[in-house]
Amino acid sequence: MSLVVQKYGGTSVGSVERIQAVAQRVKKTAHSGDSVVVVVSAMGKTTDGLVELAHAISSNPCRREMDMLLSTGEQVSIALLCMALQELEQPAISLTGAQVGIVTETHHSRARILHIETERLQRHLQEGKVVVVAGFQGISSSTDMEITTLGRGGSDTSAVALAASLRANRCEIYTDVPGILTADPRLVTDAQLMAEITADEMLELASLGAKVLHPRAVEIARNYGVPLVVLSSWTDDPGTKVISPLPSPRSTAGLEISLPVSALECDTDQAKVALLRVPDHPGIAAQLFGEIAVQDLDIDLIIQSIHESNSNDIAFTVSKGILQRAEAVSEAIAPTLGRQQTTDPETAEVIVERDIAKISITGAGMIGRPGIAAKMFATLAAAGINIQMISTSEVKVSCVIASQDSDLAIESLCQTFQIPSSPIPNSPSLVPYHPSPVRGVALDLKQARVAIRYVQDYPGSAAKIFGLLAEHNISVDMIIQSQRCRVINGIPTRDLAFTVSQADAETARQALQQAAPILEKTEILLDTEIAKVSIVGAGMIGQPGVAAKMFAALAQNQINIQMIATSEIKISCVVAQDQGVIALQAIHQAFDLAGSNKVEVPV
Ligand code: ADP
Ligand code: ASP
Ligand code: MG
Repeated sequence: MSLVVQKYGGTSVGSVERIQAVAQRVKKTAHSGDSVVVVVSAMGKTTDGLVELAHAISSNPCRREMDMLLSTGEQVSIALLCMALQELEQPAISLTGAQVGIVTETHHSRARILHIETERLQRHLQEGKVVVVAGFQGISSSTDMEITTLGRGGSDTSAVALAASLRANRCEIYTDVPGILTADPRLVTDAQLMAEITADEMLELASLGAKVLHPRAVEIARNYGVPLVVLSSWTDDPGTKVISPLPSPRSTAGLEISLPVSALECDTDQAKVALLRVPDHPGIAAQLFGEIAVQDLDIDLIIQSIHESNSNDIAFTVSKGILQRAEAVSEAIAPTLGRQQTTDPETAEVIVERDIAKISITGAGMIGRPGIAAKMFATLAAAGINIQMISTSEVKVSCVIASQDSDLAIESLCQTFQIPSSPIPNSPSLVPYHPSPVRGVALDLKQARVAIRYVQDYPGSAAKIFGLLAEHNISVDMIIQSQRCRVINGIPTRDLAFTVSQADAETARQALQQAAPILEKTEILLDTEIAKVSIVGAGMIGQPGVAAKMFAALAQNQINIQMIATSEIKISCVVAQDQGVIALQAIHQAFDLAGSNKVEVPV
């Protein structure tokens, strides 16, 4: 007999009829001999309605009371689903997060799960009951036993955490689409279903805006090897499997908080090419990386920082073996970049740096946890190491440093993050073969960009800034440090730009502005009208031309790229918000992800 955790989202329990249909499905599973734990979300758009109610009363409702309010939505669904099951003569019992013992941190509205007590659940399962658990909520470990919520979309996380704690045979996430698609079918009508996707790819996609799964749910599935599948509530089709690597055995104590950083990577076979003062208009990145792709040169990191007086800096890293060719291509193309459109007499300047190392920390546990990047920067600063380039993804922070500093950096970071082993080389991991280097695309319209001009270029500046934001509990997504160094009153400075959720943007700006003593003479700019569009795929490792194709698709649609950040398996571009959807559709098409199967999306 196996144990299965099934989770049903808001649309799937959005009406009496749908709840009855879910009850039928649950009963069928129970009758096949499986023990079933069901996790449900609030009905339909209930949670949105409750948020609206709160805002009608207060412009800034306190997080504790928000949790008290929002947790009620799920309580309605568990009771109704149990009644529907009992009507079908299927024994069932509903439990809130607190009744189960889903113990979390006290951080209201974004609590992480510490552990789940399984005794009561097991007892009811042994009695032959289906246990219906309220998703998205928990109870704090403090003596006050506060009701907490896990963050919007958090019922997925409740389900996978339960599956990990109960060592369930599988976790099924039932939703309103047939599974994980190449893009959000509400925005890209010809998006196609994937039969499977690796947990690493899904983690990036989920963090970059594909809300079909909560990224923290993917993180838990990956860490504990939970067999996870996303499928439709309306059909019996198999859906999409999320493939996790075989996990090393680990305790479920500190479920979501232990080991935020799981590995350190160091690559000393890297060299940097930077192009300074390239014109800021559509097509430039496409032209540059198009030419590099023609020469079949594989690039690793790419970053493009904020523009200044109509020009940008673009930097990329390559392996040392192809540096000469990459430099030659860049030198040849620099004078021609954007010439036809610009009247600016200045040409781009190419700078090459041979002796660099890329050092990265990785770990899904850093998602939404503000202090991790700051801690990395602080560790490097304390060791007197200057950071030349920063590029982050949601599960990785990479810093380019001088190669002579790499041993010291490794030693210091291993100590800070308690990583016992020596760093793994930055080599392509074992990737299942897939014909397309890009598996899916995602769009995030809920981000804002903060740029800080004239940050002093000394060890410790980034640590101060991101440490300060972490103190305000602000999670930063994509961090980019500019290439161009400007000397102001004898002090070298650089610009730093990063993206945060729109909800945190104003707090971030104020926090930075009030920190005048540490951010002397800087200038802070905020732009909330941005969109982040991304491609994800493990097959892009070692595959020249992928970035060029994405940039070309944007250029063909006259879309200007404001920022670029990459990791090994994703490329993200910041563009103007009103061009976000067109950008998404254009890149989906460029990578031939479209198909003829039409996906029905319920309202
Ligand atoms: P649930 O209430 O079941 O948790 P959500 O609304 O949270 O459902 O997530 C499902 C929705 O995610 C879909 O209706 C779809 O619009 C959206 N979505 C975004 N990106 C993707 C993707 N790559 N694949 C499938 N669905 C996606
Ligand atoms: N009801 C919560 C929300 O709407 C949690 C969830 O559905 O996953 O965010
Ligand atoms: Mg959801």
